[in-house]
Amino acid sequence: MRLLLCGCLAASLHAQAFSSDALKNPAVARALESVAPRQQAIVEDWIRLTEIPSPSGGEQKRAEWIRGELSRIPSLSDIKTDSMGNVSAVRRGSGGGRSLVFAAHMDTVFPASTPIRVQREGKLLKAPGIGDCTGNLIAVLELFRALDRGQVKTKGDLIFLATVQEETRLKGANEWLRGSGYRPDHFAAVDIGLGNVWYGAFRISRLRFRYTSSGSHTLFSRGLANPAKAVAKAITDLYAMPLPQVEPGLEEMKLPVLNVGMIGGGTVVNAIPREAWFTVDLRSLDSATQDRLESSVARIARAAADAERVGFHLEKPDGNDFDYSKARPRQERQGHPFVKTAVDVMNHFGAAGPAGSKAIDAGSTDANVGVSLGIPSIAIGAIRQQGAHTLEESAEADSIATGVKVLIALAVATAGI
Ligand SMILES: [Zn+2]
Repeated sequence: MRLLLCGCLAASLHAQAFSSDALKNPAVARALESVAPRQQAIVEDWIRLTEIPSPSGGEQKRAEWIRGELSRIPSLSDIKTDSMGNVSAVRRGSGGGRSLVFAAHMDTVFPASTPIRVQREGKLLKAPGIGDCTGNLIAVLELFRALDRGQVKTKGDLIFLATVQEETRLKGANEWLRGSGYRPDHFAAVDIGLGNVWYGAFRISRLRFRYTSSGSHTLFSRGLANPAKAVAKAITDLYAMPLPQVEPGLEEMKLPVLNVGMIGGGTVVNAIPREAWFTVDLRSLDSATQDRLESSVARIARAAADAERVGFHLEKPDGNDFDYSKARPRQERQGHPFVKTAVDVMNHFGAAGPAGSKAIDAGSTDANVGVSLGIPSIAIGAIRQQGAHTLEESAEADSIATGVKVLIALAVATAGI
């Protein structure tokens, strides 16, 4: 079985391996050459879009701007905004090729009131949301403009997708992939830094534990049960829980991992709190490990409540994680020609620097939804960025030209010309 699988993969890899000859096609060459002269105009669009506030669930202004730009690209059809606010468009292929979605998200983690003025410091652009994901979104838009400038005709369909609410459990991508009626052959979330290729999907559980009591004035509190003590015990015990060995090959990410990110409770200094709580963000690479860890976490948290004789409530504020029962096994995802093509394309343009591009079994982007549905899915990046999710976020202005070329090459290599 194993030999058979390897044989199949080798054959399909060979059939779809990236060849730089495809880039010599006159239309593709025109598209690639059209990017550098546009560098300044692309950066101007990038700045304009970054300065439109777009918190998760409040992406409408960005969506309108995107729609306006899409309407000026002649080859696009089916330009749509769905009920949740995702904006999509189809660039129809001539037939006989594989379809590919390029998705980037419109939302940022910053509230609408956050001041956003893009500052230029040398080659750096600085602003909240400049990298995650505005730069990537602009690169995807420019990909479709460039294909038109070169008059590139692909065999497979290419789909533009600007999603909403990626930062809140990938809600937009989930809605589009399950509800649009379009089942793509490949899905690329353009949402990370330029260089590596992610082909996985982290399992993510967000848990909230609440401990309750009837409360009491400090003067009468001696010896009574206290939810704050239960929180302290639970957190101490959780961090003492042995985790499986760190998964290799994930660069600086160390998984499996659990993190207590929020803690709270009580209303006054001189009483036992009626309630105290904390949250756990739990992540691992596969469903079996995740299920096992989640049960252990819940058991330890409950034992703390029992030991302290307080009430116990386990909540999942964001609901359950995606159902990954249809996801392809790790080896199959890793060996898929789409992943190999993306790595080859990155290396062709030197996108990852001298170290070269790596395929990594990671994922916390819109591509997770594709992985859960068994669609060959990757996360890639089209810009070099730093400090995502912080007010000090920055990106390298020049990197986007390389990023757009990477997207052009990936599009033609995958959809065929
Ligand atoms: Zn993002």
